Amino acid sequence: MANKKYDVIIIGAGVVGCMVARFLSRYKLDILLIDKEADVGMGASSANTAIVHAGYDPVPGSLKAIMNVAGNRMWDTLAGELNFPFERRGDYVVAIGDEELPLLNNLWERGVKNGVPGMMMLSGDEVRRREPNINPKVSGALWASTGGICDPFAVVIAAAENAVQNGVTLMLETAFEDFVMEGNRIVGVKTNRGTFGCRWAINSAGLYSDVVMHKAGQYPEFKITPRKGEYYVFDRAEITINNVLFPVPTPVTKGILVTTTIHGNTIIGPNAQDIQDKEDRSVTREGLAEVWRDATKLVPKLDLRHVIAVFAGLRPGGNAPCKTPGVNYGHDYIIEIPEGVQGFVNLGGIESPGLTSAPAIAQRVIEMLKDAGEKLEEKRDWDPIRPARPRFRDLSPEEQKILIRNDPRYGRIVCRCETVTEGEIVAEIHAPIPARTYDAIKRRTWLGTGRCQGGFDTPRVVEILARELGISPLEVTKKGPGSQFLVRPTKDVEG
Ligand SMILES: Cc1cc2nc3c(=O)[nH]c(=O)nc-3n(C[C@H](O)[C@H](O)[C@H](O)COP(=O)(O)OP(=O)(O)OC[C@H]3O[C@@H](n4cnc5c(N)ncnc54)[C@H](O)[C@@H]3O)c2cc1C
Repeated sequence: MANKKYDVIIIGAGVVGCMVARFLSRYKLDILLIDKEADVGMGASSANTAIVHAGYDPVPGSLKAIMNVAGNRMWDTLAGELNFPFERRGDYVVAIGDEELPLLNNLWERGVKNGVPGMMMLSGDEVRRREPNINPKVSGALWASTGGICDPFAVVIAAAENAVQNGVTLMLETAFEDFVMEGNRIVGVKTNRGTFGCRWAINSAGLYSDVVMHKAGQYPEFKITPRKGEYYVFDRAEITINNVLFPVPTPVTKGILVTTTIHGNTIIGPNAQDIQDKEDRSVTREGLAEVWRDATKLVPKLDLRHVIAVFAGLRPGGNAPCKTPGVNYGHDYIIEIPEGVQGFVNLGGIESPGLTSAPAIAQRVIEMLKDAGEKLEEKRDWDPIRPARPRFRDLSPEEQKILIRNDPRYGRIVCRCETVTEGEIVAEIHAPIPARTYDAIKRRTWLGTGRCQGGFDTPRVVEILARELGISPLEVTKKGPGSQFLVRPTKDVEG
């Protein structure tokens, strides 16, 4: 029945699937990682707030709390090994006015129960001193030194690349369709590119994790409801926030925050709107108005004229009850090898703080496989290091000169706002996971994210992609099949 038989097939290459692939690549296993999209990390992992949460928010005893705190501890080592941008700047939950101040105590208590180190209560004066742009009515803040920010695209790509370097096979544009069963054991995975045998299938399909687990006959009542979060991005030349500023949370979300990205832009968002369509990432007038209203409560001097982009992401919100005895919580992660079906690792409802938790979830998968009797033998030549490629704008003038001397393509700036060179673009096209679309290059180099939002660089990138991939510019896409930029040549002379 099968094209090839693998030990493990991982369904979904978001941050969770890629981390699982990377952690499992340490062992002597034949692993296939599939994703339906044209690149890794195009689902929830591509549109989030990029915060490595400290862990004072999730309900104590829930898997969310346990994975959050355990995951947070792993990020320094991971960033060092995989060479992605990560800064442990700490974060604040800010109380505005006297009535919000007591709410910080609840978070403090949750943080203590969850085992979050490095928390401190700050006075309003201290917060004003640290964040000059903050609402002067700030009455105090909970400060957590272990909060961090990262480049979430770089994280996914680095994890996937390191997995591939260590022997994992990645197949993109490969959609899971069904399982092949022998009795109650999964023995293969049917995809649009054929059927592949396996001993283990791992469900890390994010928004579609409910569909995948239903095909394995698990949790028919489990449902993912996409929860939309919308954002504004600001021009970094106009406003700078030093840190992550949360409001006091509501019962359903951590609230609309104001934060810096690791690239120095201020972003505000996300709101939280339950929707039905798992593909609807449009922004709405009402949603953006809500984001604006709440964010300006934290930082009143935000100015709409300095907005350079808006976007939305979808949280894969589940309805699984927490299984820890005594914890009454109905939206926990599913992380288990279920009893009802053999050869299945089920990861469902991995909403926020899923980015933070991903390495701990990957570690938990290894432990679960060992508990299930899988003999995981380490490879002698496993290499945890994923080498970084040069980022021209981060180099000293001396280093830039050397780079250009060795390869003149690093002397040609393609994106002026973000100073991205042709050399960097070409390197990404020929990387271990080749960037084959405009968005794939954007996510890897940060090109097109500045003030002109790709207005200047897009035609040049289309040209470079066509040249390097040996295809017609008409075939170059923004994000995969059906998103071509060009429809026909202009000034085409017949005959
Ligand atoms: C607005 C918002 C803000 C957030 N902020 C934060 C934050 O600051 N910090 C934090 O820790 N977390 C945050 N999160 C949560 C975090 O982004 C997610 O928990 C995490 O990205 C989930 O990763 P994943 O790999 O499970 O899912 P995804 O990234 O969605 O990956 C699932 C993958 O499965 C693929 N797939 C689906 N169906 C199939 C199929 N049939 N066949 C093949 N492939 C398939 C998809 O294409 C996708 O690539 C936020 C989320 C959102 C939406």
